[in-house]
Amino acid sequence: MKLTSIALLLSIAAGVPAWAESTAHWSYEGKGAPEHWGELGDEFKTCNNGKFQSPIDIHDVIDGKLPPLDMIFHTETESIVNNGHTIQVTVKDGDDFKLDNEKFTLMQFHFHAPSENRIAGKSYPLEAHFVHANDNGELAVIAVMLEVGAENPALNALLAAVPEEQNKAASLTTSIDLSPLYPAQKQYYRFSGSLTTPPCTEGLRWLVMKHPVTLSEAQLKQFQHRLKHANNRPVQPLHGRVIVE
Ligand SMILES: [Zn+2]
Repeated sequence: MKLTSIALLLSIAAGVPAWAESTAHWSYEGKGAPEHWGELGDEFKTCNNGKFQSPIDIHDVIDGKLPPLDMIFHTETESIVNNGHTIQVTVKDGDDFKLDNEKFTLMQFHFHAPSENRIAGKSYPLEAHFVHANDNGELAVIAVMLEVGAENPALNALLAAVPEEQNKAASLTTSIDLSPLYPAQKQYYRFSGSLTTPPCTEGLRWLVMKHPVTLSEAQLKQFQHRLKHANNRPVQPLHGRVIVE
């Protein structure tokens, strides 16, 4: 039996709708751990063979005089889910910004604990990924590091809305101001990368904000409790890529 059919059976057995996981089962530990992703199915090969993989350790940055991010906040959230890999919020009419003279609009955002990217070797307890798309469906991810400090006012409504049950989306129709999830100073590092989860698709524009924002110890504990396990892919080789600031 092909691995994909086994994964399909397993996902049905686990009560996961077949359409939710049409490909091989992957995870962050055991047989489905990141070092095996590329072997779990042909559709995941890029996880092993790719040369522009994310996340990375950001170092030896080139000064490209990038202008600060100019973000317009007007997020209407739609739903929130704990899909077993992350806690993810789907939005409509999401925040947008201009990059390379194209408009990118927020589609969803989610969290990794601990952080996936590192800045000069430093890991953070939480990293938010804001996944944006342009009109052609090309993706740009804005990553924000979170460190423990003052409570973050944007997170309580989200944490309160996460359903206990995995893969069960709850509607989240309140308008949430995401600006507290972005640092006041909007400088960032930029590089080419990939999805940090299978199928590890490349061609993504990555922007990692230089400055972290804070969340309280209690908020971090709630994330860790909900996620149940670390959900960070290890850092990947640069293969000659440059990082610009
Ligand atoms: Zn992510």
